[in-house]
Amino acid sequence: MKGDITFSIIKPNAVRTGKSGPILAMINEAGFEIAGMRMIKMTQEQAESFYEVHRERPFYRDLVDFMISGPVVVMILRHENAVDEFRKLIGATDPAKAEPGTIRKIFAVSVQMNAVHGSDSDENALREAGFFFSEIDRF
Ligand code: GDP
Repeated sequence: MKGDITFSIIKPNAVRTGKSGPILAMINEAGFEIAGMRMIKMTQEQAESFYEVHRERPFYRDLVDFMISGPVVVMILRHENAVDEFRKLIGATDPAKAEPGTIRKIFAVSVQMNAVHGSDSDENALREAGFFFSEIDRF
């Protein structure tokens, strides 16, 4: 059975340019319930650990530097079939390939600075939510 939560990050470029509000409005309008939300600035160690699966990729160092370049908004989102539904709402990793009307199509400025993160599986959604939220700050 598909899970009902996913994990998302509004990335530093989007927070810095004042896009958190418009992005949250799109998330709400698409029917997602915010089950946890905080603004944080990741440490290098946290960003390295979060993107551990990409450690061998050529863009890993740049990605970590980018993700610690400013505050981010981390969220747990609830919706039926949350992981797939949220991936649809955000669009493809590369904004040039994202469908019109998706969050990345509207707010991304490059493949790296693509405005938002969304978990790619139920297993990763649970791992990522647990990485940033304890039981007392999720609902
Ligand atoms: P996602 O699941 O759609 O976020 O995509 P991935 O898990 O493949 O990549 C994680 C993040 O790494 C993406 O959201 C981008 O911010 C960044 N990224 C992915 N591919 C590239 C790339 O080719 N170049 C650069 N600079 N960043 C990338």
